[in-house]
Amino acid sequence: VNNAHSGPEGERLVDRVGPATAKGLAGLGLHTVADLLWHIPRRYYERGEVTSFEDLREGEDVTVVATVRSATSRRMQRRRGTITTVVVTDGHAELSLTFFSQPWRTKQLLPGRRVILSGTVQRYRGRLQLSHPECELLDVDEDGHDKAEARSGPVAVYPASAALPSVAVSKAVDVVLDDVSLLVDPIPAEVSATRGLLPKAAALRTLHRPTDRSTVEPALERLRFEEAFLLQAELLRRRAEASAAAATARDPRSSGLLAAFDAVMPWELTEGQRRVGEEIDADLSRRTPMQRLLQGDVGSGKTVVALRAMLRVVDAGGQAALLAPTEVLASQHARSIRDLLGPLGEAGMIGGDSNGTRVCLLTGSLGAAERRTRLLEIASGEAGIVVGTHALLYGAVTFADLGLVVVDEQHRFGVEQRSALSREQASGRRPHVLVMTATPIPRTVAMTVFGDLDVSVLEEVPPGRGEIVTHVVPAAEKPHYVRRMWERVAEEVAAGRRAYVVCPRIGQDGGSPEAGTSDAVPGNPDPDSPGEDPAAGMASVVDVYDELRTGPLQGLRLAVMHGALDPGAKDEAMRAFARGDVDVLVSTTVVEVGVDVPDATVMTILDADRFGVSQLHQLRGRVGRGRDPGVCFLVTDAPPGSEARQRLDAVAATRDGFALARLDLQQRREGDVLGATQSGRRNSLRVLSALRDEDVISEARVAAAAIVETDPTLSDHPQLREALEALAQAQSADYLEKT
Ligand code: ADP
Ligand code: MG
Repeated sequence: VNNAHSGPEGERLVDRVGPATAKGLAGLGLHTVADLLWHIPRRYYERGEVTSFEDLREGEDVTVVATVRSATSRRMQRRRGTITTVVVTDGHAELSLTFFSQPWRTKQLLPGRRVILSGTVQRYRGRLQLSHPECELLDVDEDGHDKAEARSGPVAVYPASAALPSVAVSKAVDVVLDDVSLLVDPIPAEVSATRGLLPKAAALRTLHRPTDRSTVEPALERLRFEEAFLLQAELLRRRAEASAAAATARDPRSSGLLAAFDAVMPWELTEGQRRVGEEIDADLSRRTPMQRLLQGDVGSGKTVVALRAMLRVVDAGGQAALLAPTEVLASQHARSIRDLLGPLGEAGMIGGDSNGTRVCLLTGSLGAAERRTRLLEIASGEAGIVVGTHALLYGAVTFADLGLVVVDEQHRFGVEQRSALSREQASGRRPHVLVMTATPIPRTVAMTVFGDLDVSVLEEVPPGRGEIVTHVVPAAEKPHYVRRMWERVAEEVAAGRRAYVVCPRIGQDGGSPEAGTSDAVPGNPDPDSPGEDPAAGMASVVDVYDELRTGPLQGLRLAVMHGALDPGAKDEAMRAFARGDVDVLVSTTVVEVGVDVPDATVMTILDADRFGVSQLHQLRGRVGRGRDPGVCFLVTDAPPGSEARQRLDAVAATRDGFALARLDLQQRREGDVLGATQSGRRNSLRVLSALRDEDVISEARVAAAAIVETDPTLSDHPQLREALEALAQAQSADYLEKT
């Protein structure tokens, strides 16, 4: 697969360990020599240490260390062949092993020998046993010679599977460990020397075959550093490459669209909006592409910042594209930008400003004729501002002169998608890029995922915002809370305000949770696993709409909103709700991101425990956007004290997006944190944790920056360059697999 690479790490395991073992290793996600070498032991057994049998449970795949007590063979009565029964002990309890037609086992498993065993625990005639376990003698080799010399240290136990137990993994590791000195060490000698790092080969050998437990941690530390260093070097190299690319400087015009907009804008910019605006202005004046991340909590006013940047680019004769993750959000953006611009956004139309531009919405659901018209507007340059969904990324969208790409809610897109839009234009230049996210990310995660971007932060929300109070409503324990909650919703409506009711699924034929819009929900059953429909029993938009209409919210004007509606119906529901023709919008999480209706003050989330922390925070951000205080109800059947309840209590206790993001990350597996939607860099971290290893990541970044600054093409660091190329290759292979 990986011929570019001179070391053995890219070699396929099938070529080394035989097809059966290779298949088992592939089942563990291990395909190359490097994969296996970085497959770190789960734990180590000391010499003389045995595993207590007390915790063994029927049906579990286990790896245990035990001492042989007896071994006997006899002929089977009804079948041909022998049955060998071996009894092993942990010093207290006994476990029996059975082998069919392997009489030689009695000579291998002599009483007193210590053995490491992997297999599935079964129960036979009331006793626990392992049938045909994988065995490896710990103290002697197969010929009975003492191997104390060779294996004097702790014994590694690997993450394994029923198909390939730890002992078999260990044997495969032995095979590839022979090549370890041939591996490319990508860390430049000067970095290793100043940090006193172990050589890579020594670190790997130590991890798999430590002579002493105390040597494990420094070895692991060395690998963590390598992983962090490679990641940072790659991100910094990309950044250096981008800043070597050409872009068109988009200089301001004193009496253009932006000036006209600033004159009619309904409010003062906040201090943060002004500051970030200046940072963006400085970038846009350069002849290298802007690569900026704008991070601002829910409701901090990112849209206006983006709009002002877009107007400046239009003033300079270019076009701007705004990419949104959902159709609901794209049409809302197009609408609110048109509203904000007024006549300035209606160039060429009656009543439009001759100085103005035109806003064009491009989504996947347009009819063919309409799509053609809009594509023409974009290609001719008539449309200065193009708002769209993924439809903007793929297919033949040609711009007259694309000067700026804004990606809203970046966490819903992958890195690959981001680069699809920012690629070189026909002019040979790249557009400036601004990506925005409301998902606050801890610093080191940001460094890991967005390390190729400059970062701007909008800290404060615009003044005059009402408070949001959040209540957890335990529906099962306190049904009267639920009654009171609906009364409260009705009261808000009576006072002229509006309410969202969010359900985890659509219901009836609409299907289970909104596809593609919901984040991984901790504690939710794996949707791919067979068995019960995980969505069964959860509140659905269709049912809740009926119940409320004829029950507690009788007489109010209700509407439904979900992904299965056709785009026209979605848009109409959203407009009616924004106008005030609908009081209560019963919806799925399609309203999660970006939706902005300042008069909405109540958010009721049913089965709230089904949503992740960040998702709840985003949903709650839909209310309290105007002057009136907001209220958010998190309705749940989860019992008090349960993990789900604690999560909801945490959301209720704070509106600090950063604190909640941290909590969310702690509850997800690392793979989800850096998962496809977050970064497109799934599974690439093997020993590093973006959460735990902040120090390592910061230090690696400093070390990598020093290298990339003086040698941006890495021509003086061929080993490092080679490793990064291999990494990029593996990642794009990964990406192709996923699409
Ligand atoms: P987000 O950062 O979550 O995308 P939005 O851009 O949707 O936030 O802005 C949230 C709300 O704040 C919108 O209703 C917007 O019109 C309003 N807003 C933005 N900037 C200001 C400002 N400087 N003063 C008052 N209101 C503002
Ligand atoms: Mg927004």
